[in-house]
Amino acid sequence: MANYDLHTHSTASDGVFTPAQLLRHAHEAGVDVLALTDHDTLDGLQQAREAAAEYAVRLVSGVEISVTWEGTLFHIVGLGVDEHDSALLQGLAALREQRDRRALVMAQQLERIGIPDPLAGAKKYQSTRVLSRTHFAHYLAEIGAAGSIDAAFNQYLKPGTPGYVATRWASLAEAIDWINGAGGVAVVAHPGRYRLGEPVLQRFLGDFVDCGGAAIEVVYPSLAPDNVARFADYAGRYGLFASLGSDFHRPDTSRKLGQVGSLPDGTIPVWRGRGWNHLA
Ligand code: AMP
Ligand code: MN
Ligand code: MN
Ligand code: MN
Repeated sequence: MANYDLHTHSTASDGVFTPAQLLRHAHEAGVDVLALTDHDTLDGLQQAREAAAEYAVRLVSGVEISVTWEGTLFHIVGLGVDEHDSALLQGLAALREQRDRRALVMAQQLERIGIPDPLAGAKKYQSTRVLSRTHFAHYLAEIGAAGSIDAAFNQYLKPGTPGYVATRWASLAEAIDWINGAGGVAVVAHPGRYRLGEPVLQRFLGDFVDCGGAAIEVVYPSLAPDNVARFADYAGRYGLFASLGSDFHRPDTSRKLGQVGSLPDGTIPVWRGRGWNHLA
C-alpha cells in the first residue's frame, strides 16, 4: 500500500519548508503520493512538481481554501486541480486581497496593545503572496511576546483575543465551484477541528454535498480513533470519498510527513474516485 499524504503546506503559504524542501523531506519520510495544499494559493506547485520529479514522489496539485459558512471559518481542500484554471486563480487572488486587508486591521489592533511594528514583523516571515496569522505568530514568538507559535495563537490570534479580526472568506458554494471547475475534488479538511455538534455537522455536510463536494478527511494526526470511526461513518452516509493528510507545516510538531497512517476499512479512498486521473 502506497504511503499517501494529501494535505501539506510550504512557504507558498504558512509552512516553513520551500516546496522543494518539502518534497525532499516527503521523500525521506517515505511518502509516495504527496498533495501540496497551501492556503489560498497555487504558487508553490510549479517548484513542487520539479522537485517531485527529482525525488520520484507523485505530486497532487492541491489547495486549501478559506471558507466562511454560517459565520465560521472552514477549510476546504481541493485535490487534483488544474493550476491554470482562471476562475480558481481569480477566486484565490480575491482571498489573498482579503488577507491583506485583514492584516492591516490585525496590525492596528496588535499595535494598540503595545506590539511594535506587527505588520513589518509578520511580513518578514511571508515568502509569497499569502499573508497568514501564522506569520504574525512567528513574529510574536520571535520578539518574546509569546513563548511559542501555539501560545501566540492562544494569546493574540484566535477568536476572542486582541489580534483577531473576523473575516468573510469564500462561500462554500464558491470554493467547491472553483475546485470542481478546475477538475479537482473538494474535500472537507480536518472535520474534527471545528468542534461541531451532530446537528450542525450534518447540516454542513448536507450543504457540502449539495454544492458538489465529494470527500472528507477521516485520518489526520490529532484525530482520535473514535473520531476516525465517526467521520468514516459520515463518509459512508453522505457518499463521500475518504482522504488523509498530515497538515504538515513545520518540523517538531505532531504533524509528521509520511506518518499519517491508513484509511479505515469500509471507506473509499479519494484516489479511487472521480478526479484520480488528475491526481497522478
Ligand atoms: P489564517 O489562514 O491566516 O487565518 O491562519 C490559519 C492558520 O493558522 C491555520 O492554517 C493553522 O496553520 C494556523 N493555526 C490556527 N490555529 C492555530 C493554533 N491554535 N496554533 C497554531 N497554529 C494555528
Ligand atoms: Mn496553516
Ligand atoms: Mn486547515
Ligand atoms: Mn492545512
